[in-house]
Amino acid sequence: MACPHNLLLSFVFFGLISCAVLSATPPLLQEEEDTSITRFQGYLRIKTAHPDPDYSPAISYLKSQAHSIGIQYKTLEFAPGKPVLLLTWLGSNPSLPSVLFNSHLDSVPAEPSKWVHPPFSAVRTADGKIYARGAQDDKCIGMQYLEAIRNLKRKNFTPTRTIHVSYVPDEEIGGLDGSNKFVGSKEFRDLNIGFALDEGQASPGDEFRVFYADRTPWGLKIKAKGPPGHGSRMYDNSATENLMKSVEVMSRFRESQFDVVKAGKAANSEVISVNPVYLTAGIPSPTGFVMNVQPSDAEAGFDLRLPPTADPDQMRKRIAEEWAPAIRNMTYEIIEKGPIRDYMGRPLMTLTNDSNPWWSVFSEAIRRAGEKLSKPEILPSTTDARFLRQMGIPVLGFSPMKNTPILLHDHNEHLQDTVYLNGIEVYEFVISSLSLFAGASD
Ligand SMILES: [Zn+2]
Repeated sequence: MACPHNLLLSFVFFGLISCAVLSATPPLLQEEEDTSITRFQGYLRIKTAHPDPDYSPAISYLKSQAHSIGIQYKTLEFAPGKPVLLLTWLGSNPSLPSVLFNSHLDSVPAEPSKWVHPPFSAVRTADGKIYARGAQDDKCIGMQYLEAIRNLKRKNFTPTRTIHVSYVPDEEIGGLDGSNKFVGSKEFRDLNIGFALDEGQASPGDEFRVFYADRTPWGLKIKAKGPPGHGSRMYDNSATENLMKSVEVMSRFRESQFDVVKAGKAANSEVISVNPVYLTAGIPSPTGFVMNVQPSDAEAGFDLRLPPTADPDQMRKRIAEEWAPAIRNMTYEIIEKGPIRDYMGRPLMTLTNDSNPWWSVFSEAIRRAGEKLSKPEILPSTTDARFLRQMGIPVLGFSPMKNTPILLHDHNEHLQDTVYLNGIEVYEFVISSLSLFAGASD
């Protein structure tokens, strides 16, 4: 098959593109016209759900979209079978820091038996709901970025700053082989990114939500040891006793954090959450546990979430001195899942006031689009934004879904067609405003 001329140009730029891209058939159904909605459905039908996401058809599909729009594209691979797709719309002043629009290729699994429509069929109901795993999280934004660029190009808009759009693997399993490796690469540094947008969450109200930070997850295992022996004796410092003392202390801390939320002084995502995950002790027997032997080991696991305002050193000290003190024969292990400070040691937060000029441009673009933002929030969970923030890049989490139930990771995830289409218009304002922004040269 021959390569069309503009693809050859792209080939010269990146040298990584194969003509096979052109033969990728968009997964539209025969009766479907090629519209922004059917293109979204086409992306949703590609199964990139864990545990075995098939990234290559998704990459091919997105490349064919980029090709039809007329923007550059290249695939990078930092871990085998885990591609990152990077699209580039060159600005008229490429020396200015660029703007990145990120989304992830993968999704969490779906249990088809719990869905009213098959999760990878992208059925659009008569009332306009598009059902698919990834409809909200976050294939919507991945395609909306493209559709907004398509429309802006059609209107002969020329960006001043270069616009990049990235599609990364493995966000749903922690992003260590995806965004984490991408942001650490020379290819990423060369993009000279000044500001980025990543995924947010749906808003049940009529204002869009925007997120300036994520919480950092820690897995905490605490282990207690004590004298084993016959169950009839009296024990000081037994393993289970020591573990239970810790659980009491931790429960008090957990309640103190929750009280702040209940009193309305902080949002859920602004405090440290401590949720017990497992408790284990005892010697198994065919009928359950041996009841007349005191176990010598006991262990518990907890899921902690730290907002960027939390002091990680203070938390480590609390764990060492109060939750798993050596004086009670306890040890612990903290599994830190991602950064909590940036490369300069600053909390991973993006400012949402006038001291951050990117915030002003973004929020003004939303206003000009005729929309409203609710009070900026910390996301209770995590996204790939944390890896970008770790590099010192300001990032906002934003998915333009209002009047929409929050269905990410849920059964029957869906998005209303009109909400999706409105989001494309919103991104036209956002992309054009950010790309024309003249200030912030660093
Ligand atoms: Zn997501």
